[in-house]
Amino acid sequence: MTHMHVAGGIHADVSSPAPLWLVKPEDGNALSENIWSSTVYRQGDGEMSIGGMKVSQLADLVGTPAYVLDEADFTERARRWTRAFADWTVFYAGKAFISKGFAKWILKAGMNLDVCTLGELTVALRAGFDPAKIGMHGNNKTVAELRLGLESQVGRIIVDSPDEIGRLEALAQELGVVAQVMVRVTTGVEAHTHEYIATAHDDQKFGFAINSGAALVAMMRCYHSPRLKLVGIHSHIGSQIFDTDGFEVAAKRTLRLFQQFREATGEQMTELDLGGGFGIAYTKEDTPTEPEELATRLREIVEHECRAYGVSVPKLSIEPGRAIVGPCGTALYRVGTTKDVDLGSGHARRYISVDGGMSDNIRPALYGAEYAAALANRASKAEVILSRVVGLHCESGDILVRDEFLPSDVQPGDLIAVPATGAYSRSMAGNYNHTPRPPVVAVKDGQVSTLIRRETIDDLLRLDVDIVEGNVK
Ligand SMILES: *Cc1c(COP(=O)(O)O)cnc(C)c1O
Repeated sequence: MTHMHVAGGIHADVSSPAPLWLVKPEDGNALSENIWSSTVYRQGDGEMSIGGMKVSQLADLVGTPAYVLDEADFTERARRWTRAFADWTVFYAGKAFISKGFAKWILKAGMNLDVCTLGELTVALRAGFDPAKIGMHGNNKTVAELRLGLESQVGRIIVDSPDEIGRLEALAQELGVVAQVMVRVTTGVEAHTHEYIATAHDDQKFGFAINSGAALVAMMRCYHSPRLKLVGIHSHIGSQIFDTDGFEVAAKRTLRLFQQFREATGEQMTELDLGGGFGIAYTKEDTPTEPEELATRLREIVEHECRAYGVSVPKLSIEPGRAIVGPCGTALYRVGTTKDVDLGSGHARRYISVDGGMSDNIRPALYGAEYAAALANRASKAEVILSRVVGLHCESGDILVRDEFLPSDVQPGDLIAVPATGAYSRSMAGNYNHTPRPPVVAVKDGQVSTLIRRETIDDLLRLDVDIVEGNVK
């Protein structure tokens, strides 16, 4: 999304169709460490392996396309985050990717879990996730969702609108319980990310604005409700954010709100959740902040503001999604066709069509997200050329990797791997063109296990009801 560009001699050819940030690699087989999961490397013969398993073997076993999760990478990454944020509560944002098996990994890693629909909550409960460690989000939670949340006694419900507060009070009354709530606020921060994944400016659908006073009104309403227990304030400024400036402003504004609440009630708010959105590396140019540094900086920011307001430091929580699961995932595709397009002025672009596309990764089409790619089943001595990895769908915007230098001898039957696809790929996947969704498999020590099996055309047809007169099923 936002890259730092190094201008220089390499970009002297301004008419080149390659974007400025994309540097032609010296070695087309090199796997840049920052974007591939930790066990990915090229074996002696040049073939890529993940979790001790060759990609060709993986493709034979589970087919393509497939999402491959590197379990060792996950375990280590989760450990780093929970250790760095040991004195915080870490809620994994389930919308990045969730399955019953994966929820168990999250539980085992000692993280809490955020869900935002009945579907995600059900997956978590069926996986045996401790409800007390679940947070429920959503700007339009249904009565059924809220009911299941209250009945299963989730740890907290993050309220997002006046309507929801009323609905939740009525339900809690009916069930004879007290709901633990946090108030989601928008801090007016303009996060430096794509408009569709920025969530703290005032003109969007989430939360109660601090600027307009709506946030304090919502807090007071929850505070005075006999059926609600207000446990804290929640702010999520957006996703794929690389700097801490946005979090600093958000912390300042939420803590000022804590102070206003204390002035109004004489009581101190107990918890502050700063949300998720921590950026990851999708391409070589991305340089995310390490969790240890993030933890230090965020704590400093909060402590500094608390000192300024004379309030004690509240319990703190964060909600990383992408940062936990994104880098663990690699998408594997099989090449079907290749084609060169003459762009004029001596330039050309190689189109490499693979057996997936926007149905299994909508992010490039939705946000203009950039990815990298590599020839996976072999190394190549051929020169690299500017390539575009595209899918099989009936849209010219069906692009998986807009720009990448790939060996010029990539041919039908080769495997292409796309790193950093663990988050928001399977979870956002669809069935456009009646394309069944790929499986999610985990690899570790040369063993593969399925988390979500491949969808079949029969799975899709199961929903397609035969027309019978009077049939309203
Ligand atoms: C999406 C979301 C997250 C996680 O965002 P990432 O970019 O995946 O870290 C956390 N909290 C809330 C409320 C969200 O909506």
